[in-house]
Amino acid sequence: MSLSTTPERNIVIIGGGIIGCTTAYYLSSHPLFNSNISKITLLEASRDGAAQGASGKAGGLVAKWAYPSELVDVSFSEHARLAEKHCGISRWGWRFVGCGSWEGHGELSGEADSGVGKGGARKSLEKTLGLKGDFKKTRQQLGLPDDLDWVREELTTAYSPMSPPGDTAQVHPYLFTTSMLSLAQERDVQFVQGKATAVNIDKDTKAVSGVTYIPADSSEPKSISATHVIVAAGVWSPKLIPRLPIEGTRAHSITIRPTPDTTISPYVLFTEIELQGVSRRTARASPEIYARPDNEVYCCGPGDNSPVPDTVDDVMVDQHACDDIREHVASISTQLREGVVEKRQACFLPIARGGGPIVGEAKSVAKGLIIATGHTCWGICNAPGTAKAIAELVMDGKITCANLKALDPSRYL
Ligand SMILES: Cc1cc2nc3c(=O)[nH]c(=O)nc-3n(C[C@H](O)[C@H](O)[C@H](O)COP(=O)(O)OP(=O)(O)OC[C@H]3O[C@@H](n4cnc5c(N)ncnc54)[C@H](O)[C@@H]3O)c2cc1C
Repeated sequence: MSLSTTPERNIVIIGGGIIGCTTAYYLSSHPLFNSNISKITLLEASRDGAAQGASGKAGGLVAKWAYPSELVDVSFSEHARLAEKHCGISRWGWRFVGCGSWEGHGELSGEADSGVGKGGARKSLEKTLGLKGDFKKTRQQLGLPDDLDWVREELTTAYSPMSPPGDTAQVHPYLFTTSMLSLAQERDVQFVQGKATAVNIDKDTKAVSGVTYIPADSSEPKSISATHVIVAAGVWSPKLIPRLPIEGTRAHSITIRPTPDTTISPYVLFTEIELQGVSRRTARASPEIYARPDNEVYCCGPGDNSPVPDTVDDVMVDQHACDDIREHVASISTQLREGVVEKRQACFLPIARGGGPIVGEAKSVAKGLIIATGHTCWGICNAPGTAKAIAELVMDGKITCANLKALDPSRYL
């Protein structure tokens, strides 16, 4: 299709997380997008702007061994391309990292617990499911890499790399997401702060006709007309399309700033710590630890079953869960023990029951209704592949960058 014959498109994206913002970027960068003819609006419910949920509070791992492979295969190379094109190294902390599983003992100083928030039972975030085989069983040596000097050698029982060099990278999720939004805004995407309350469907044509929302600065509902509506509202997506099988798992995280004279080498560690020094009992903890280029260290704990609140602004932080993460990582690292905790936060991971994510047009609900959600623990990694596929679907009429049949909404809707 040539630019002169491009039909008018009114595209509304619901959700300013990494999926919504990256989709806005890819749509507005598509060769057939012409802002004199078509319009893209990104609607975000938080009063604090984009990336206030999981997309601003995730670890930021980008891995060739992530899943599902059909999205990873596109996403990893797109991450590298975006970083090259838009100075991702300085703008959002893109870099390759060492990644390994670390197993050993931790020496606790305080009354730390298992790291689960008051939301209930401990749930794995399942990031290592994409690895072929059981990496714990394939460990061949107990030694640590020379430059992994910020975990205590004497407490280590095993370390094994989880991927060859070049297969694991990272971004700072908040900086990546907000950069995607800024770049999209430079290409005329309109950012509107307000909470979508309904996707409107024309009864006669069975196509989407618009979105109703409550603007952030008023209680009067408004509507935006639309030829395409993209639901990228994370765990809140079923509030708009109730049959979507999305559940939320809450997870806590903290960031630590080591003392100024300490440099934390670039590793992401998946830990298994046997905690010692707890008078009541010996327990295990498995925080993930991410060194970041600005010498910030991000650490997250397990998930829990806390109910999903009305909006991202209502997510509760259980301070005990944050204290425990700090104690657990401090139990194996002097550098992290001496550092200052800067952020204590929680967010909800969008999990698709029966596997996910869900990416494509929900034709059985309405023509022009596109779903892009349920990215579980790999939404940061898989955002570019998802966004590229959706931009192709909306602008070209079909997805050509990958075969995403297994992720099609028709599996569920
Ligand atoms: C502790 C933790 C660590 C993680 N680490 C990694 C990692 O290392 N690598 C990786 O690839 N992934 C990681 N993830 C997963 C990743 O964070 C998510 O898959 C991803 O952020 C999901 O993005 P999203 O845009 O779908 O959802 P969200 O980030 O939740 O964004 C959805 C947005 O929609 C908005 N919204 C909701 N309802 C409405 C409405 N009605 N109207 C308007 N706006 C609305 C919300 O306010 C929110 O801003 C991690 C997740 C957690 C919890």
